[in-house]
Parts: sequence; C-alpha cells; structure tokens
Amino acid sequence: MSAPHPLAIDPVRDAAEVSRFWSSVVRGPGEDDCWVWVGAISDDGYGRFWVKREGRQRAVRPHRYALVLANDGAPLPPDWVSLHLCDVALCVRANSHVVAGTPRENSRDMAEKGRVRGRWNRWLPGTGRDRAERSRAVRNALRDGWDAHRFRDALHGVNEHPTLF
Ligand SMILES: [Zn+2]
Repeated sequence: MSAPHPLAIDPVRDAAEVSRFWSSVVRGPGEDDCWVWVGAISDDGYGRFWVKREGRQRAVRPHRYALVLANDGAPLPPDWVSLHLCDVALCVRANSHVVAGTPRENSRDMAEKGRVRGRWNRWLPGTGRDRAERSRAVRNALRDGWDAHRFRDALHGVNEHPTLF
C-alpha cells in the first residue's frame, strides 16, 4: 500500500464519516482522561480508520484524523508531525493529549509542556509489536465502555494475555 504523507489528510466534510469515527472512540469522563480509539489497530499499534477519498479507500491514523477534526476539518500543514503527550497510541484527544506542530516544536516546546503537566508517563518505547500488543490490550479493556482500572492495567501490562494461552 503506498501511503501518502500521514498528516496530509484531505479535508473532513462528511458528517456520516465523522459520526462513524466517533462511534469507534471511548471517551474517559474525566478532564484528563484519554479518548481511546477502539476500532481497527495496525501492526504498529496505532489505530486505523478507513475513509474514502477520490473514490478510493484510504487508511488514516485516528489521532491524525482527530487533529484534522479539531482543526475544523481543514488539512494540517504537510510538514507538521503529531505527538502523543499521553503516550497512549490509541488516544485521539486532539489538542491536549495529541498535538501537532512542526518537528522542532514537538521535540522541544510540546515535550516540555508535557513534562510540566506530568504527562510523560513513559514506558520504554519498545517495538511496534510491543505497542500493538498494548493497544490490543487497551482496546479489550474498554470493550464494554470506559473502565479506568482496566484501562490502567492494560497500559501497564497487567493481564496482557487474559486466558488466551
Ligand atoms: Zn490520551
């Protein structure tokens, strides 16, 4: 699959598509809670949301889609990158947990802000496969809706393989 630039998502104007997007998101009720994508997950642990553009299906990353939504549906500048301040790959809470900016902003200003707010709840980065396992555990934890304890356990690897083996 040839991927266009990951942030170069076309404008979002389709209300049905937007509502389909939110139907795959579980929102924590708290001010600082994550909004978690519970739809399809890619092998690298990030979500995958299918949209149709110019007659073709395209997979986009949900957190980037959320950033476009938060930007009134307009595409983000192509050289911008996105960053999860909360370190939850499936989180789509744009403009607070997921931010976009130039690479320089992201590596410095945003990182500092995240640290100040205590959001660098960092585990070792690990591989895409580790992230994918964690993401699947998180999605499972929220299968029946928001559950702060199950969510936290899934993030920290508790019961990562419940009764599967
Ligand atoms: Zn988050």
